[in-house]
Amino acid sequence: MRIGLGYDSHRFDPGRPCLLGGVEIPDAPGLKGFSDGDAVAHAVTDAILGAAALGDIGTHFPPGDEAWRDADSMDLLGRAVALVHDAGYRVGNVDLTVICQSRPRISPVAPAIRASLARVLQVSEDQVSVKGKTNESMGWEGREEGLAVHAIALLR
Ligand code: MG
Repeated sequence: MRIGLGYDSHRFDPGRPCLLGGVEIPDAPGLKGFSDGDAVAHAVTDAILGAAALGDIGTHFPPGDEAWRDADSMDLLGRAVALVHDAGYRVGNVDLTVICQSRPRISPVAPAIRASLARVLQVSEDQVSVKGKTNESMGWEGREEGLAVHAIALLR
């Protein structure tokens, strides 16, 4: 078994749709980024690549490479899953926490994000956990400058 950690943060950009784990979340600011800004997809990608010691999302899909401009980050996650499979591993489970002060609220959309991630990770929904946390109004997350995602993945 192998364990991996992923982290990502993005600034809010109210001009973009808010995508988390491939799910478009209404009434929430979007996230700035060279890709679609999907910080959940990015953190999970880094967690599974990290568990396999296969580098990180920037190694495989460099920001600034026009091939990945406005990329669908769930597509990048799917490519990372293929790399992990090629290395002889399967995803055991993934757990993640989204840190954001007020918007988007995670609990109402957590089931949809779990289903979306499970589909791309090729696992069942009970192998994916999605949680939300405010930052008690402290720091940049508390000031609602953006959001952060911490993810952990087990491969077997
Ligand atoms: Mg990112």
